[in-house]
Amino acid sequence: GGKCGKANGIMKEFEEKCRTPAAKLKLVADAMTVEMHAGLASEGGSKLKMIISYVDNLPTGDEKGTYYALDLGGTNFRVLRVHLGGKGVGLINQEFAEVSIPPHLMTGTSDALFDYIAAELAKFVSQESEEFKLSPGRQRELGFTFSFPVMQTSINTGTLVRWTKGFSIDEMVGRDVVEELSRAMAKQGLDMSVSALVNDTVGTLAGGRYTNKDVVAAVILGTGSNAAYVERAQAIPKWHGVPSKSGEMVINMEWGNFRSSHLPLSEYDNAMDAESLNPGEQIFEKMISGMYLGEIVRRVLLRMAQEAAFFGDTVPPKLEVPFALRTPDMSAMHHDTSSDLKVVETKLKDILEISSTSLSMRKTIVELCNIVATRGARLAAAGILGVLKKMGRDAAKDGDKQKTVIAMDGGLYEHYAEYSKCLENTLEELLGEELFKNIVIEHSNDGSGIGAALLAASHSKYL
Ligand code: ADP
Ligand code: MG
Repeated sequence: GGKCGKANGIMKEFEEKCRTPAAKLKLVADAMTVEMHAGLASEGGSKLKMIISYVDNLPTGDEKGTYYALDLGGTNFRVLRVHLGGKGVGLINQEFAEVSIPPHLMTGTSDALFDYIAAELAKFVSQESEEFKLSPGRQRELGFTFSFPVMQTSINTGTLVRWTKGFSIDEMVGRDVVEELSRAMAKQGLDMSVSALVNDTVGTLAGGRYTNKDVVAAVILGTGSNAAYVERAQAIPKWHGVPSKSGEMVINMEWGNFRSSHLPLSEYDNAMDAESLNPGEQIFEKMISGMYLGEIVRRVLLRMAQEAAFFGDTVPPKLEVPFALRTPDMSAMHHDTSSDLKVVETKLKDILEISSTSLSMRKTIVELCNIVATRGARLAAAGILGVLKKMGRDAAKDGDKQKTVIAMDGGLYEHYAEYSKCLENTLEELLGEELFKNIVIEHSNDGSGIGAALLAASHSKYL
């Protein structure tokens, strides 16, 4: 009928806007490579900050002792303790605890956020068992994974550039995050020092390298998205510090802030961006990461409800609530394999309070999830191609059988199978079957936390 036709029209128009043919993705990849060069050439030379991480030596496997890590991501934070056995032994034991961040702390004060984190850390430390005990007189050391853009000034200092992913604590911007954490730890009476401040991408790269020597890059697809890779120190014109001994430097790209005229942005993306806490920023992240995919689906569905009465004569009130449809729920609907799409029906009822949907409506919704996830995954693959190009790993060299391993982590990549499958297929499509054989995408479960602990070990003040 007419209504159905109108809804289909809205869908088709959106689908058309979201198209990502290989030719377009290659332009996106090239633009990424160009921006990488610009960001390395001068400070502020690109939307890509290309942050120098001060990590010029990745873990070797020889690290030894007990170290802590604290991983503040977007949704949760994790505290962990690792016991490293040293050369030939590796990771003997690890323990962790995960706590979700109460939403009011994301937009409150710096003290409130860090006091909360330090209190949870203190609780975790108090549960330390005998086998983790440090030798007397030795302070506990921590690697701090802080997954927001930080301008590092050394391996364990750095100031917050800006918030992303729904955080907004203005007074923190420009402050040293290690100082904030250290002050809060002292208030808790916690005798611990921060040896390394690392982005989650850098932590994931370090964690990946600990078990696989061929890891040269890391990508996070979680609440937000970002990437890091190993660059030649020579190729960083803006670096005027002490020359790196290894001749290498890990670069935290902050690729979430990438933007290019080749990105297939729709009116829904533009409206979501305009209404976000950080308008005009993190445009790439807003198209590919977990915080936003469900929200884009909601916005298209809302339009279909308003202009084509997709859900009947009234617009379901819940559908008007920003971020009401979360990506895990979108993913559950997308993966519904039941013949009558029971999961879709239940999700619509439970989350959006929409009852009595027809099978064909549910099919349309699954298709919508597919459009949004496919665009995100294909763009993420294009981003990876851009990084491979910058590293010179996108072309065959004679007799080159060198493996290029990319450590991947994040809840989106881990749990959204249709997304990760599409990402991998797209990378193969872009590189070609032969070149793709040398590329390995390795899921690095919780690598960012372990990586931070490893970097705390290799930057220990007792070495
Ligand atoms: P963070 O990015 O906050 O450090 P994670 O890496 O654990 O945390 O990623 C959490 C994010 O992953 C969630 O915000 C959500 O967007 C996404 N996610 C979690 N579970 C799923 C799922 N089942 N399907 C799709 N996305 C998911
Ligand atoms: Mg994380």
